[in-house]
Amino acid sequence: MDAGSCNGCEVEIANAFGPVYDASRYGIRLVASPRHADALLVTGVVTANMAGPLERTLEAAPRPAVVIACGDCAVNGGLVREGFAVVGPVTDVVPTDLRVPGCPPHPDEIVAALRRFGGR
Ligand code: SF4
Repeated sequence: MDAGSCNGCEVEIANAFGPVYDASRYGIRLVASPRHADALLVTGVVTANMAGPLERTLEAAPRPAVVIACGDCAVNGGLVREGFAVVGPVTDVVPTDLRVPGCPPHPDEIVAALRRFGGR
């Protein structure tokens, strides 16, 4: 879920699932609905408009749902933490199980984080 990202983290997530890093070879898939998800991969600092949707997205996921904060903005607010429309990092809104730092994180680090929970 993009909670307020610049889209840089999404580019690297797309690379993590692309042919070079290929997270799917470890049995990890991106799904369109939180109802089909074992984990929420959250990017971006949480903006005021996205705090409620983030909470509702986690509520919609089957339990136990893992929350992974992906990128510096999601981990600690990053470059825009003092912004007027910013609530804070992901952990200020929903409980966070794993943090993947970097601006943006390298696809290898994203794949390694996902493998800790769902892959082989
Ligand atoms: S961590 Fe960097 S790349 Fe990711 S959303 Fe924040 S500014 Fe963009």
